[in-house]
Amino acid sequence: MAALTLFLLVSAALSQPSSASGTGTCKCVPTDSCWPPVSAWESLNTTISGQLIDVQPIAISCYAGPLFNNETCATVNSEWKKCAWQANHPAGQCQDTGDLTCPPVTPLDINGQNCTLGNNPVYAVNATSPEHVAAGIKFAAEHNIRLTVKTTGHDFLRRNQGFGSLEIWMRYHRTGIDFQETYKSCSGCVDPRWTGGSAIRIGGGYQWSDVFAVAKANNVIIVGGGAPSIGANGGWSQGGGYGAAAQQHGIGADQLLEAEVALADGSVITANACQNIDIYTAIRGGGPSTYGVVLSAIFKTHPMCTAVQQRFSIPYTASTRSKFLDAVAVVYSSAPDLLDAGFTLSGFWSQANASLVGSAPSGYSINTYAMNKTVAEGQADFAPVLEKLSTLGFNKGSFY
Ligand SMILES: Cc1cc2nc3c(=O)[nH]c(=O)nc-3n(C[C@H](O)[C@H](O)[C@H](O)COP(=O)(O)OP(=O)(O)OC[C@H]3O[C@@H](n4cnc5c(N)ncnc54)[C@H](O)[C@@H]3O)c2cc1C
Repeated sequence: MAALTLFLLVSAALSQPSSASGTGTCKCVPTDSCWPPVSAWESLNTTISGQLIDVQPIAISCYAGPLFNNETCATVNSEWKKCAWQANHPAGQCQDTGDLTCPPVTPLDINGQNCTLGNNPVYAVNATSPEHVAAGIKFAAEHNIRLTVKTTGHDFLRRNQGFGSLEIWMRYHRTGIDFQETYKSCSGCVDPRWTGGSAIRIGGGYQWSDVFAVAKANNVIIVGGGAPSIGANGGWSQGGGYGAAAQQHGIGADQLLEAEVALADGSVITANACQNIDIYTAIRGGGPSTYGVVLSAIFKTHPMCTAVQQRFSIPYTASTRSKFLDAVAVVYSSAPDLLDAGFTLSGFWSQANASLVGSAPSGYSINTYAMNKTVAEGQADFAPVLEKLSTLGFNKGSFY
């Protein structure tokens, strides 16, 4: 357990608030005298073969200044709400948490607007190899700089951000997605829970959509994120991970057989049921970006099966507030029966005109899946729920 304790301490130190001086456990930020000079950043850039990015706010082209550009700003405005587009930027975020420090504005509105990096990283290592990751970790430790890790920017809690940080950007760290007819541990580990079982090795910053395609091509299923744009090896699996087949096969934490992890000292280890068991335990639900940077991971796969899906969205309006809440209560109180019937349940609250993600109307949506059921069986399981919703005035015609 000694290693785990060490990394918890490292993590606590990394999350200390910054001070003006950057001394002690407080991290250096760009306004501090301890912030590395340009030459140090240039040296890091050379070490990582030119993969260092001087991060700018995504919408900076919409503001007066040297980077103002009408055409780029128009693209920013049209693409802003797309998660996939945001994921292509080291400072991109999928969710609006109301803390934008450089929102997209039309060029005509620039007067009086400020655009700052906010909590986005100052620099990002666009890592494409374990050496890049290790160099970034080492540089941040040597210069007492806050270190952040990001793959897709889906995190609701903004755990991929840090004021004045150096980011390890994992989006393009990709060494392939390989199906294994039988799980092959890199360290020769024989895991008694998965003897002879099949698996997929995910080599880096892939999204679940990439992994689902490989699973389908090999006639297996894998428990993955409900949104295919979520990263497979980042916050989803390290936060527990819920997905369509979780009721049948367990959550993401139950699927992870092995991971290659870069630790706070820059070393790379293999964690599985046979070795580095404390790290293996911690990265299966203990929270992302805390114990190390996951470079690759091997997940269980399961035999292909049929699945049924039921989804509907209950609209919210101020005038139907009371009925809306009653309808949500119907869904919540039906959950135990639906789970017993083998459904996974995912609920989404949405607010119209949210500035960053999608454009769903205000309301509550539910998305459910069950494996190895016929459509008729699924409909029978859902009939009591839909009947209760119907008595409240919500039916097929009113769902969105
Ligand atoms: C539209 C949407 C739908 C969602 N649906 C589901 C769902 O169905 N089921 C579910 O369980 N969750 C769901 N989530 C939540 C999602 O799983 C979390 O937000 C998760 O943290 C996203 O992980 P990421 O790596 O893609 O995102 P990021 O924002 O890039 O990273 C999230 C966290 O992981 C860390 N991290 C990223 N990569 C690594 C790495 N390689 N090594 C170590 N740390 C890393 C980051 O530092 C950060 O702390 C959904 C989120 C969104 C926005």
